[in-house]
Amino acid sequence: MSEELIKYQCCICKETVLNEEKSSHLDPCSLFVISNIDQQRDNQKEQQFFCHFECFRKLVNDDGNLYIMDDDFPTMGEIAKEDWSEDD
Ligand SMILES: [Zn+2]
Repeated sequence: MSEELIKYQCCICKETVLNEEKSSHLDPCSLFVISNIDQQRDNQKEQQFFCHFECFRKLVNDDGNLYIMDDDFPTMGEIAKEDWSEDD
């Protein structure tokens, strides 16, 4: 694999996601658009886009539901490590 950084293009502002002025500690982000969400998985289409977290936050007019911004919002690894066998 190349040592050069992958240049993700933000699908909202069209700039490189890793440029310094706009970058958040959550970048680079990706968005998945899944079609026909009311149908079975076999009938759906899926496309991945890249974006600045801040561009996405402005686009959706941050209404307080972006839990991903919370420092204690778990990573996928933390969720996987969670021990579900405990009752407390
Ligand atoms: Zn952007």
